[in-house]
Amino acid sequence: MDNRAILYVRVSSDEQAKGYSPDAQLRLLRDYAKKNDFEVVSEINESQSATYQGRTEFARMIETIKKENIPIVLFEKADRMSRNPIDANVIYDMIENRGLKVCLVKSGTIINRSSPPPVKFSFYIEIGMALFFSWNLREETKKGMNEKVRNGGFPSLAPLGYLNKQLTDSDGKVLERIIAQDPERAPLVKQAFELYASGDHSLASLRDWLNEKGLKTRKYKKKITKHGLEVVLHNSFYYGLMKWNGVSYRGKHEPIISKALFDRVQERFASRHRPNPRGLFFEFKGIGLKCGYCGCSIVAERQFANKDKDYYFYYHCSESKGKCQQTWFREEELEKQFAEAIGQLQIDDQVIGLIKAALKKSHEDEEEFVKTELTRLQSEYSRNETKLHKVYEDKLEGVIDEGFFKSKYEAIQQRQIEIHAEIEGLRKRNSKYFEEGLEIFELMKNLKNQYVKADPAQKQRIMKILVSNWELKGVNTTIYWNKPFDILFEMGETQKWGG
Ligand SMILES: [Zn+2]
Repeated sequence: MDNRAILYVRVSSDEQAKGYSPDAQLRLLRDYAKKNDFEVVSEINESQSATYQGRTEFARMIETIKKENIPIVLFEKADRMSRNPIDANVIYDMIENRGLKVCLVKSGTIINRSSPPPVKFSFYIEIGMALFFSWNLREETKKGMNEKVRNGGFPSLAPLGYLNKQLTDSDGKVLERIIAQDPERAPLVKQAFELYASGDHSLASLRDWLNEKGLKTRKYKKKITKHGLEVVLHNSFYYGLMKWNGVSYRGKHEPIISKALFDRVQERFASRHRPNPRGLFFEFKGIGLKCGYCGCSIVAERQFANKDKDYYFYYHCSESKGKCQQTWFREEELEKQFAEAIGQLQIDDQVIGLIKAALKKSHEDEEEFVKTELTRLQSEYSRNETKLHKVYEDKLEGVIDEGFFKSKYEAIQQRQIEIHAEIEGLRKRNSKYFEEGLEIFELMKNLKNQYVKADPAQKQRIMKILVSNWELKGVNTTIYWNKPFDILFEMGETQKWGG
């Protein structure tokens, strides 16, 4: 029997900076290989920086597996395996089409082509959760981050109330691009925050007030909209914190408002009672509805049924010449079709157990991450508090002058604000993780029933989780399911698995 195996370890640069090394991972994999009599042909270490640009060690591993027909690959955990959905799909493809066997050593999970669908299913849930919530996302975020943001600059059009300016020398050569307060709009932005925090204004009345004052956007000289105003009131840029790809940085620009005022506005948003009118909400928007006759996308439309303004939502082919034979669908009809389709899903206690286990496993990894990050941030915070005291005392003792004191004090204060925001972000992330995991779990337990009794927004959410795209062809609907739910549908069709 061919027992050749590749060991693959990965430690992110972040983790390395914190003292993690790939050695522990490697030892674990070597032990496992020895116990199972695998012949290790290659040890691949993603932690070493790639020798030349664009080619990762992951790609090298894939090449080796293909070229030499290696049948086995070992990883520590799912989150060590792939950095992005594309890599995950490559692995998936090799399992299905090349007969690759994947061992996740820490949990003892083994996947190959003939693994029972439920095992594959939980494997993909694990990968999926790892992809969304683990180190990978963070790394991607950082990679995509602009160098400029890191240094406190802002890479695009400054928000309303600020201006993008260029500092030039006497020859007109650009020395630096900076963000300066807009003398005309900054005071209005500040007042908008104050008025909204006071609770005397709704978004609509505040918008009207701003428009009366003559506020116009910079680029198109337009009036501000309700949505535009909401974006402004949620933007931490105004008190000094820039958000870039979900990460906060201290900006070099001068704040327009204080953090306290910003917080009051956010509280006001949170407490605002918002009735939820149905409005123009199309349930089947954004789930990839396509026409099965001509391939055009399916679009939604509201049609009034009578003078009393009763209306229905319709879906029809967007083919412009009117030649398509596709009929129009009422939203209710599509709902029925969807409910029928999910009714065929095979979800029993065994599957529920698998989902539960996969979610648990991936959550342990996430928790580990959040815990280390929180500890790091909290200790930095208290170190900074000590520094603040020290600077204050030095000032009192006359050891440092006013200017030095001020710049030092402000710099530390700003970092404290940043740490605070980072901690908040981590907490939110953690609860979001729970919510999403539980949502999938609860949903799968009684899918059809949950769908039928859900409100339109929830229905759309359920479809977005499950559906990758959907082809309508008269009464014949074909729904293509997202991974890993496609496996559940296969199970329903074949009934071959389990016992
Ligand atoms: Zn069509």
